[in-house]
Amino acid sequence: MGADASDKGSPEPDPRVTQWVRPEIRALSAYAVQDAGDLIKLDAMENPYPWPASPLVDEWLVRLRDPELNRYPDSAARTLKARLREWLGLAPRFGLVLGNGSDELIQMIDLAVAAPDRVVLAPEPTFVMYRMIAAFAGMRYVGVPLRGDFGLDRPAMLEALARHAPAVVYLAYPNNPTGNCFDDADVRAVIEAAPGLVVVDEAYAPFTDHSFIAALGEHDHLLVLRTLSKMGLAGLRLGMLAGSAAWLTEVEKVRLPYNVNTLTQLSADFALEHRAVLAGQAAEIRAERARLAEALAALPGLTVYPSEANFLLVRVRGGRASALFEGLKSRGVLVKNLDPAGGALRDCLRVTVGRREENDAFLAALQGLLF
Ligand SMILES: *Cc1c(COP(=O)(O)O)cnc(C)c1O
Repeated sequence: MGADASDKGSPEPDPRVTQWVRPEIRALSAYAVQDAGDLIKLDAMENPYPWPASPLVDEWLVRLRDPELNRYPDSAARTLKARLREWLGLAPRFGLVLGNGSDELIQMIDLAVAAPDRVVLAPEPTFVMYRMIAAFAGMRYVGVPLRGDFGLDRPAMLEALARHAPAVVYLAYPNNPTGNCFDDADVRAVIEAAPGLVVVDEAYAPFTDHSFIAALGEHDHLLVLRTLSKMGLAGLRLGMLAGSAAWLTEVEKVRLPYNVNTLTQLSADFALEHRAVLAGQAAEIRAERARLAEALAALPGLTVYPSEANFLLVRVRGGRASALFEGLKSRGVLVKNLDPAGGALRDCLRVTVGRREENDAFLAALQGLLF
């Protein structure tokens, strides 16, 4: 994103750009994706396991021979939606909207409610797209600091809800980049006090036993967001938003007609037919997460935070996070350096749980740098 422009250095400011591009957009930096090259990729919360070549990949390729790519996709994604409803255990009275990744659903939600001076609110630190997409939609964004243990600060949240009356509250559950699930009673207090919509973003659902899907029937202004990305299908780009039909009928109106392409619809349907494979991989990731957390906790100068996601947040004492990040990179391992984000994330690295041998390579590199 924006690579071409930045590769050539700063061009002369074009006065028309300055005149017409909204100041809040000019103030943003495009979402940065690191080039991993040949590095061991532990930066982006991807599932490290491919599908078994036989029979899964073979059967999938057979399925991919059928679609007519000269035709538009099924805009209503009927087959895939039926599969997703069954998978999520979603009753027919609830709505379901699909997105090109859950990022696009966040954008649709904001577009459906956006007006100048309307507010999007989220606890922080959290997923940066909540802030960015609020800016795209021309909304005001309010971040409410989490407590030191990364739990919701209930009084501060309630005070902010009363003061800003946000159109939308986003709660990542488990939270990215901290890895924890907020306390159930705190989340419920936020849902009860919120004057607008509350979106519980369950991108990491495969790696936790907690979910608010079962609470959908209790509150019409609660929506649950899911994605196939972190469970092993990041390349397909498929997100889903479930909840009250009254809300989702409106969100559906801002969806571009063919946002989920034919190959994604087919492939996601196929993958969910074989979801035992993905569930097995999630179980392996959870086991590796426990092993990696224990090994990291045994190293000097590191604090590992409890995680219900497929990554671990690690705090490095002595202001060494950026040096460790560079050291790991030079030893062939790419993690996410959160130190530049500052605030509560100063001195922090985020490492995605990889395959056993990748985690071992990461641990060995880290050990070499610490001793
Ligand atoms: C990764 C992530 C997403 C984005 O998921 P996509 O479906 O790939 O767009 C959404 N929310 C949170 C909290 C995430 O960490």
